[in-house]
Amino acid sequence: MPDVSMSIAGSPAPPKVTLRELRVRGVHVPLKRPLATSSGTVGIAPLTLIDLLTHEGVIGRTYLFCYTPLVLKPVLELLRNLSAMLAGQPVVPLELDRRLQRTFRLLGNSGVTGMAAAGIDMAAWDALARAAGLPLVRLLGGEPRRVPAYNSNGLGIIGAARAAAEAEELIAPGFGAVKVRLGYDDAAADVAVVRAVRRAIGERVQMMSDYNQALSAPEAIRRGHALDGEGLYWIEEPTRADDYEGNARIARALKTAVQIGENFGSASDMANAIAAGACDYAMPDATKIGGVTAWMRCAALAEAHGVPMSTHLFPEVSAHMMTATPTAH
Ligand code: MG
Repeated sequence: MPDVSMSIAGSPAPPKVTLRELRVRGVHVPLKRPLATSSGTVGIAPLTLIDLLTHEGVIGRTYLFCYTPLVLKPVLELLRNLSAMLAGQPVVPLELDRRLQRTFRLLGNSGVTGMAAAGIDMAAWDALARAAGLPLVRLLGGEPRRVPAYNSNGLGIIGAARAAAEAEELIAPGFGAVKVRLGYDDAAADVAVVRAVRRAIGERVQMMSDYNQALSAPEAIRRGHALDGEGLYWIEEPTRADDYEGNARIARALKTAVQIGENFGSASDMANAIAAGACDYAMPDATKIGGVTAWMRCAALAEAHGVPMSTHLFPEVSAHMMTATPTAH
């Protein structure tokens, strides 16, 4: 076969870097405000810190949020095993992604394996950006700009009075939006919390809500109707995240936008959710979706289907990805 590779005159190629080692550490970070959701409480953040060392001296860095200390050691062990497997490989995210998908095809690419693969992908993109001397957003073809953000560091299931007081603290640094967890004993209690927070933040600050998958689909429709007049920007994960048909029924029934996505395990999950009409908005999680590589596939899907997109956790990398996402909101 003839060699048809081309080079573009005058455009400097990003330097090539080769993976030497993944150096990993586990840390437990106490949260300033332990987060009580309808699905459990998170009091400390078990994090895996990843340094992707290269033969050229550049180090790509990222971290993973493991949700429970129970999986911190297994994730570290898995990454150490993958370090031995990937040593000497070029830092080319699409190739690393292909290789890791093949490695885990029989076991499955979600859960702990997906998390480890995402960490490698994010660290690889960071190494490439550092090698090129560019912020990641420029490497992705975008331009640094301001990205709107909401404050979600609190407002767990803590009751109307405490939620109202906490909401005031959350907007104090200048945030234009906050997110409140719902899933109290009944619809009246959910509405009372939303109204208390609204009184505290005023009309100009946006309010999102999150049920963390607490409700059945019929109950979500009942509560959603009770909340439809409250001006919520979205209702997040009202029912089981992987029940796309149930979420579609809820989205059709409510005036308020339905948001899901933090539990998408791949761009295919997002494609299936969009095909089912399961959400008005989508918010993939950088780690669960599979890192920067998978995020950009989701961004293309969102643009093709006109779905506004936002992020979940990992602001350090997500801000870059949002800036390169056509439907970012
Ligand atoms: Mg959520």
